[in-house]
Amino acid sequence: MSRKPHIVILATGGTIAGAAAAETGGAYTSGQIGVEDLLSVIPEIRNLAEVSGEEIASIGSQDMDESNWLPMARRCNELLARDDVDGLVITHGTDTMEETAYFLNLTIRSSKPVVVTGAMRPANAHSADGPMNLFEAVATAVCPDSCGRGVMVVTNDTVFGARDVTKSCTTAIHTFQAPNFGPLGHVHAQNVEFQRKPQRIHTTDSEFNVDNVKELPKVGIVYAHAGGDSAIAVEAFAANGYDGIIHAGFGNGNFNQTVGDALAKAARSGITVIRASRALSGAVTEAGEVDDARYGFIAAGLLNPQKARILLQLALTVTQDRDRIREFFKTY
Ligand code: ASP
Repeated sequence: MSRKPHIVILATGGTIAGAAAAETGGAYTSGQIGVEDLLSVIPEIRNLAEVSGEEIASIGSQDMDESNWLPMARRCNELLARDDVDGLVITHGTDTMEETAYFLNLTIRSSKPVVVTGAMRPANAHSADGPMNLFEAVATAVCPDSCGRGVMVVTNDTVFGARDVTKSCTTAIHTFQAPNFGPLGHVHAQNVEFQRKPQRIHTTDSEFNVDNVKELPKVGIVYAHAGGDSAIAVEAFAANGYDGIIHAGFGNGNFNQTVGDALAKAARSGITVIRASRALSGAVTEAGEVDDARYGFIAAGLLNPQKARILLQLALTVTQDRDRIREFFKTY
């Protein structure tokens, strides 16, 4: 390429664009600082790439939902289809970054690099992590080796796959981890070194297309705890017309019997029930501790509950068939 790569930065808000009342941290407001101001702190980014910015939202990612995801996926696809755009960087709050990254991983139809980044410290805090994360995100987006690896999350010198990554700590800058397989690679200065490629279906091979989807099917998450009270949450989702329920179960996707009975009743009524786990790592295995065929449940495999929710929402846009949805959970 004779010209510099052109990377578009899509800003959505979050702490990376947050302003704290005091530079030592503490209370702050997300999404206060624009893309140009973020870029002005790290002029070296312009040595790596031609960058242009768009603000597509200005929110804390705790408020991120399908009303942002659907237009975001469409905007990403429009931009990536252009010959003069070589990759995207999305700045985002860290709270739901893993969900947005996984949603885009399944709905973007391009092998060009798409990198999501954010920060744990507001832009005006001492040792703010946002500028370096943004620099490393752009370095990853311009790296030819990044193509075809699906949507990535880059923070704290580390490149994660969208499917693997999760926020593991409330406050630390090394919050993002991939508990089952570790990172895809690392960034040192502006050099990106990869160790592996994601194996599950993503981006160009994904069959999920949200171009004409106005809203996603309704899927709720029920969290397991000792005792059977969360059966009430299952019944509430069922009574409110939910299409799917993810059970964040014990260990290998297990449940208290009262909750299991409520989930089985929901499954019999046509609601798709996915067994995930509240444990940090490991797969929920089909017919492991629970007889899925008997209850009509589907095992989430390695997807955590919040990502199982995304996959089920997208799966339900194409089919209600349980065998097909089960297959999605084995391949995506
Ligand atoms: N609540 C913030 C957000 O997710 C936290 C962060 O960005 O780190 O937008």
